[in-house]
Amino acid sequence: MTSETAVHHRRGWCPGVRRPMATGDGLLARIYPLGGVLSAAQTRLLAQAARTHGNGLLDVTARGNLQIRGLREETYPIFLASLETAGLVEPAGDGPFRLTVVSPVAGTDPADLVDTRALANSIEAAAAALPDLPPKICVAVDGGGCIPLDEVGADISLRAVRSFGEIGLALGLAHGSTIRWIGTTSPDRTPEAVLALLRRFAEMRRSGKTNVRRFRDLATELVVNLGSVVGLAPVMPPMCRRAAPRAGIIPLVEGQAALLGALPFGRCHAAQIDTVADWAERFGRGEVRVSFTRGFLIPGLAPEQVRALAEEARGAGFILDPADPRLSVLACPGRPACASAFTRVQADAAQIAESARKLLAAGMTVHVSGCTKGCAHPRAAALTLVGSSDGLYRTIIGGSAQDPALSSLPLSEIIRRLRDLPESGILADAFHEPL
Ligand code: SF4
Repeated sequence: MTSETAVHHRRGWCPGVRRPMATGDGLLARIYPLGGVLSAAQTRLLAQAARTHGNGLLDVTARGNLQIRGLREETYPIFLASLETAGLVEPAGDGPFRLTVVSPVAGTDPADLVDTRALANSIEAAAAALPDLPPKICVAVDGGGCIPLDEVGADISLRAVRSFGEIGLALGLAHGSTIRWIGTTSPDRTPEAVLALLRRFAEMRRSGKTNVRRFRDLATELVVNLGSVVGLAPVMPPMCRRAAPRAGIIPLVEGQAALLGALPFGRCHAAQIDTVADWAERFGRGEVRVSFTRGFLIPGLAPEQVRALAEEARGAGFILDPADPRLSVLACPGRPACASAFTRVQADAAQIAESARKLLAAGMTVHVSGCTKGCAHPRAAALTLVGSSDGLYRTIIGGSAQDPALSSLPLSEIIRRLRDLPESGILADAFHEPL
């Protein structure tokens, strides 16, 4: 392996194909498809690469990227060469490798007010040469359509809005767990405004005003300062929308539809994405979209094809029911995939989803994490369970994986308490352990 393709062990860094990351089950390479779009041929190539050079497992990330797991050092150079020929390798450098996230139905959603794919491409092009940006920085480009991007947790949120008959983009900056809306601008001036914000953030870090890597961690006065660098029109905070559907059939333009198939906890096998590539060619227009909702979307379906495809998708292990309890449980890879994990997170999360069915249906979210890093959900959840070295889970109510725990319990006891808790039950009472 050359120094350019050396395995990267440092935390806070994003793996790519050029620089995979060492994990508990071998090397992990992340692919960053622009706009989340893959051709059927690229999808098939990734399935083949995962089977041949990895352990056959892949993850869809919360930003709509794809990870191939269990790669071996001996065959890594062949893996890299095969992805290079298919245009699936990120640019050289330290990233961000993909700055923007758009809806998986971008360009085909009748409710979108702007062409978010074109806007995202302009932002990517404008920011490509910007130095010193932390690799995890993210811009959500939301056209106002049927799949809101609020849960992406972006540093900069753009939301298309209509005001007095004019279409503009509301700009918001992450501030703690909220979005601070700072103004609006026209679609054609948006890339310039985003660039100014990113440039100022990089300058703040260079000059030592801050060392944080994400906008959400900036001190309030720096967020205000950041917002003042771009000349924006006043903004009305955009309306809250229902959370994005994570699975099901989505109506698109011209009477067409899309199938959004979710993966339990974002994990799939190479055979499943081979099947997705086949569906894109048989039912769609040869295009696969990797969705930040941790699944795949096949656009361009004729209404009469939807039922047949949905049946096949269920049979292949995809979740199509938006009420499936697993969709309300966020889980990281856990053991054995992650070397830092103390517990078998995904298997445990499946049992927790089953036992908390009633509570999840009532809107509760559970986050199961193999350690305090909380990769799957860096924010608060109604119930967060964090694996610890004694094999127990620390239980945190209404907080994130780093917050203080109410109790430390074995999985079997957590399952029992969740199963016995009525829908309207109080989690804090159920999990509080007297000292
Ligand atoms: S949260 Fe911890 S255990 Fe889970 S993937 Fe991240 S580092 Fe690994």
